[in-house]
Amino acid sequence: MTTIYRKTSLDGKHKTGIFYCGDCLDDSWKPQPYGEGPKHFTGRWEEAPLDQCDVCYAIDQDSRDEYENWSNDMDRMQWEEDYCSENGELK
Ligand SMILES: [Zn+2]
Repeated sequence: MTTIYRKTSLDGKHKTGIFYCGDCLDDSWKPQPYGEGPKHFTGRWEEAPLDQCDVCYAIDQDSRDEYENWSNDMDRMQWEEDYCSENGELK
């Protein structure tokens, strides 16, 4: 399973548009060619389950499925509410 992370500033207040999956994050800790150090590690990383890795385009399908189920549930609840109020029924 893939986990997607988003880079934020050290205090977590500023969120960047940089996304890495767990694997690419691990890879980028390794020494880089041409003696460059890791580039993205002056902040913190927080989980971003609905986003996509910038490097390998991985997504966290499990979290997406969960989110989809959750929003489908919300849609259905909304629909039932509308349906009931159209028919003048009290809950
Ligand atoms: Zn990746």
